[in-house]
Amino acid sequence: MSKRRSTEEDQDAVSVRPSLERQLGLARARSRSLQLRLRAIADNLGHGLSLYDKQGRLVVCNQQFLEIYRLPPKLGKSGTSFRRILEARVAGNTHVGDDGQQYVTDRIGAVHEHRALGGIHRLNSGQVISMTHQPMADGGWVSTHRDVTELFNMQAELTHLAYHDPLTGLPNRTLFYQRIGRAFENVADTNGFAVLCLDLDGFKRINDLLGHATGDALLRQFAARLTKALGPRDTAARMGGDEFAILHIGGDEESALDLAHKLAELCQQPFDFDGEVVSIAVGIGIAHAPADGSDIDALLHSADLALYSAKRGGRGGIRAYAPGLDRAAADRRKLEAELRRAIESGEFELHYQPILDLKAGSFSGFEALIRWQHPERGLVSPAEFIPVAEDSGLIVMIGEWALREAFAEAARWPADLRVAVNVSSIQLRRGNLVATVMNALASSGLAPGRAEIEITESVFLEQSEQSLDALRQLRALGVRIALDDFGTGFSALSYLLAFPFDKLKIDGSFVRALEGSEGAATIVSAVADIGARLGMSTTAEGIETPDQLRAVHSSGYAEAQGYLISRPMSREAVRAMLITQFDAMPEAPAQAG
Ligand code: C2E
Ligand code: MG
Ligand code: MG
Repeated sequence: MSKRRSTEEDQDAVSVRPSLERQLGLARARSRSLQLRLRAIADNLGHGLSLYDKQGRLVVCNQQFLEIYRLPPKLGKSGTSFRRILEARVAGNTHVGDDGQQYVTDRIGAVHEHRALGGIHRLNSGQVISMTHQPMADGGWVSTHRDVTELFNMQAELTHLAYHDPLTGLPNRTLFYQRIGRAFENVADTNGFAVLCLDLDGFKRINDLLGHATGDALLRQFAARLTKALGPRDTAARMGGDEFAILHIGGDEESALDLAHKLAELCQQPFDFDGEVVSIAVGIGIAHAPADGSDIDALLHSADLALYSAKRGGRGGIRAYAPGLDRAAADRRKLEAELRRAIESGEFELHYQPILDLKAGSFSGFEALIRWQHPERGLVSPAEFIPVAEDSGLIVMIGEWALREAFAEAARWPADLRVAVNVSSIQLRRGNLVATVMNALASSGLAPGRAEIEITESVFLEQSEQSLDALRQLRALGVRIALDDFGTGFSALSYLLAFPFDKLKIDGSFVRALEGSEGAATIVSAVADIGARLGMSTTAEGIETPDQLRAVHSSGYAEAQGYLISRPMSREAVRAMLITQFDAMPEAPAQAG
C-alpha cells in the first residue's frame, strides 16, 4: 500500500507543479478516503471502536461507538478531542460516578499515563460496557467497547435465581449459609451474632383448607413482614416449606430475643386474602454464635433444637438454645426408637380407672389409660411418651391398638358399663379414625353406645374441618364424644358451640385447687352450669379428697373420677372386681391385641 501511495505521489509530482492548496486538497482527499475505508471496516466490527492519536484526537470511531455512548454524529469526526467526547458522555450520563468533571480529569490522566482502562464498567445510564484499551507505538491508543448490559443482567438474574427463593424473593439456604460463614469470619470484630429459626404453626392446614395459592400468598406476605422487621445488617432467608431463618448481626442475646418477640407479634396480626382472614403463629428458636455453635452446622443445629423445644411448648413459642436441649433431643430420639419396638413387642397395656355416677352411686364405666411396661425403665407414664408418639406419628398405630384393646375388654364387662378411650388430635388428622373405630367396634362386638372418645381442645386449635367431620360421623354411629381436660388450654366457649359434646370433663387441676381458691370453686361450678345448660353431661376428674367429692357433687356434676374413688387398675383387677360386684361376667370373647 505504501508503495502504491508513493507511486501516486510521484505521478502528482511530475504531472503538474501543484499549488500548495491543491496539495492540501489532495492530502485531505486521501485522508478522507482512508478514513472512509477505516470507518467501513470499523462499522462492521460488531462492537464499538475508537482510535486516538497521541494528542488525544479522534482518528476514527465507528457508529456503534457513538451509539453506545449516545454521542451526536458530529463528535464522530476525526480531530474531535478525547476531552470533548468525555464531556459529551458526562452530559449524556454515559459516564461512571457522581462527579462528571472528576471523571473527565481521571480518564485523561489515565490515558496519558498509559494506564490500563479496560474491564467491565457500569455507566450511570445503567448500561454495562466491556472495554479494552490498547496503547499504540505512536503514542495514540485504540479501544473497543461492547454493550454487555443484557448479558450482564441475564447473568445477574441467573445468580439471583441460584441464591434466592423464587416464591418470596428472600435469600435461599445457600446464600444464608454463605452469610453465616461470613459472619463467622468477622465474629471477632462483633458482639457475636444470632441465628433465629422460624416455623409457621399450622401452615399445612391453611394450605389444605384454603388451597396452595393462598398458602403461597401467605408465605409471601409473611416474608414481607419479616423483611420489614429486620435491621440493615440482618438477613432473612427461606429455608424451604414454611421454614424461615434470620441472621441477626450485632446486638447481644437480649436483642435477638427482642427481635423474636417483635416477629412473633407481627405475625399474629391477621393476614387478609381477599376477605379470607387467616391468623398464624410462629415458633422461634434462637442460637448465638460462637457460644452455641462454632460452625454453621453446629449453630443451626442448636437453633433447630431451640425451635423444636419452642414448638413443644405450644403455639407461637420462643426459646433460646440451652445446653440441656442436646440431651433432651437425644433422649427423645432414643425414646422414639424404643416406642417403635414397643409396638411390635407388645409392651403396652391399658389400665382402667372407674368413673362414678354421682346420682346412682355406682360405676358408669372406666377410662382406659395406656401404660408402657418398658423392659429396663419399668412403667413409663403416658405424659412422657404420648407427646413423642404424637410428634413421630406413632400415635396413630398406638391409638389404634388402644381402641381395639379397650373395646375388646369392655365387651366382656356388664352391658351397662361404658369405656372411654383417649384419642389424640393427630389421630383425627392423620389416621382414619372413623374406620378404625368402626373396625374396633365390629371386631369386639361392643355396642357403639358403650364407647366414648375423649378428645382435648387441641383439635380446635388446629381448626381442622376434617377432624370435626370425623367426630360428627362417630357421633352419628352412636359413639359418645367427651371434651377432656376442659379449662386448661384456651378454653374458648365457642368450642362448645362448634361441636355438640356428650360430656365435659373439667380438668383435675381445678378440682385440686378447690380448697383455698375461690376462683377455682367458681370455675368448677360454672362448668357444671354450662354443661347443664348445653345438655352436656359433666365429669370432675382428679378427686382425691372427700371434700372435693362433696364439692363437685353439690355443684351438680354427674360423674366423678379420681384416686379417692379408685386408681387406674389393670384389666385383671377390673375383671376380678366386676366378678365380685356383679353376679357374672359375660362369656369372654377372644382377646384382641
Ligand atoms: P387424662 O385423659 O386427663 O387422664 C387422667 C389422668 O389423671 C391419668 O393420668 C390418671 O391416671 C390421672 N388421675 C386420675 N385420678 C387422679 C387423681 O385423683 N389425682 C391425680 N393427680 N391424677 C389422677 P395418666 O394415666 O398418667 O394419663 C395422662 C394423660 O395421658 C391422660 O390424661 C391422657 O391425656 C393421656 N393418655 C393416657 N392414655 C392415653 C391413650 O391411650 N391415648 C392417648 N392419646 N392419650 C392417652
Ligand atoms: Mg382422658
Ligand atoms: Mg383429663
